[in-house]
Amino acid sequence: MTRYSQTLRVEMLYLAIPAVSGEETLGFTRTALPLDSVNRRLKDARRSILLGAGMASILALLLGIILARRSTFPLRNMTRAARDMAEGKNHGRVPEGQGSVEMRELAAAFNSMNDQLRERMEAVSGERNKLAAILSGMKEGVLAVDAQERILHVNGLGAELLRLDVNRDLGRPIWECSRVTEANELLGQAIRENRFLRREITAVSATRQRIIELKASPLACEEGRPAGAVLVLNEVTDIRQLEAMRRDFIANASHELKTPLTVIRGLTETLHEEPQMDADSRERFIDKLNRQVGRLAGLVSDLLSLSRVEGDREQFEMETVDLLELAKTSYKENLPVAEAKGVSLRVQLPNYSIPVTGDRSALTQALENLLDNALNYTPKGGEVTLKAKIHEGQAVVEVEDTGIGIEPEDQLRIFERFFRVDKARSRELGGTGLGLSIVKHTVLSHGGEVSVESEPGRGSRFRLRIPLSA
Ligand code: ADP
Repeated sequence: MTRYSQTLRVEMLYLAIPAVSGEETLGFTRTALPLDSVNRRLKDARRSILLGAGMASILALLLGIILARRSTFPLRNMTRAARDMAEGKNHGRVPEGQGSVEMRELAAAFNSMNDQLRERMEAVSGERNKLAAILSGMKEGVLAVDAQERILHVNGLGAELLRLDVNRDLGRPIWECSRVTEANELLGQAIRENRFLRREITAVSATRQRIIELKASPLACEEGRPAGAVLVLNEVTDIRQLEAMRRDFIANASHELKTPLTVIRGLTETLHEEPQMDADSRERFIDKLNRQVGRLAGLVSDLLSLSRVEGDREQFEMETVDLLELAKTSYKENLPVAEAKGVSLRVQLPNYSIPVTGDRSALTQALENLLDNALNYTPKGGEVTLKAKIHEGQAVVEVEDTGIGIEPEDQLRIFERFFRVDKARSRELGGTGLGLSIVKHTVLSHGGEVSVESEPGRGSRFRLRIPLSA
């Protein structure tokens, strides 16, 4: 018990323990201790306990924090990696050897998901690049729009033909960016009516006129309405020009064939209806008939030659041909013709051979046509010179005359089929208007070129250049 000691005047702790022997109490052992020192010791003990507990708490806290950080570290790594992936920044993997077993499994699963995702992304971007390469390599323009007619994709040619700026116009409605209104209308109509549409337009620019075929098809439907439309633009200028040329050619050829045939029919009818015709008239009629038949034969032969030289090279029998020999032969064969016309025919030929790889008969005919024209369009007393040489690694053949010459505007057209400066005169001379076309196509098929220089009233010079054989 504790009690205040009047003697010592301090709070004392008294302890009495009985001394017992068997059943009998022998006496009491009493002891007293000033409470002050007890309190001091108790205080010391309490302080030590508090200090220990405090330090233990701090240690536990620190340990807890460290452990928590260690266990959440892989999670934070994964969060960061996932965020990066979502932002498309990088596709980094996370370390798999950190944290608890569950954490390691999670990291492994995360990495495997990451790998798969990367593979798929690569596959998708590979497909996209392939598609872009195909579309940009196409010789057609391609443009795709969504249901609101906003541009989803356009390849280079499409952008050029629709006059779009890919960087600026992607995602914008087509009618806001393209001034080719027919294309905009066609796309809108294809979406509205959900059907394939086709139209041809003529696009005129500062430099040229282009004919463009537009084909619009709706894209696969979304609840009964197309998800958009695809427009394919195809330049058909060359095809349409070729078609027009073919139409003209057929019309011209038919006309050329019809004229002698009409004359022949008239002559034969007269001969038939007038059996009493005198011998002289009959002779004249037959002579005329012969000339018309000759004209027809010439025309058919020129048409055949033209179709041969305009065709591919397979139609030719290519061999090494010496243009010097060819020129000599043509010269000899034309000498009597020139003499008969009162035109002097000369040659300027080298003493070396001029080998080219070509079709002998086609080249002979080209030379023949040039000499024929020169002799036909050079009046009596004039001069025609045939020259051949090697110049700058090419075979050069020239046919020069002192004839009527050709006006500059006609010089551009004389190589066209059936073009003749003076139709009546050409016909009179047995011309078909195909001679120079045959020359041009022959030379082109031999990898060469033909040119003309001429001065009206003074004469002309036709020049062929053909690569020498290897
Ligand atoms: P053609 O059978 O009428 O001669 P070409 O195709 O050979 O047909 O020539 C076309 C036209 O070019 C001729 O009709 C003629 O008007 C002109 N021409 C060709 N060669 C000459 C030349 N040497 N001198 C003047 N005109 C020429």
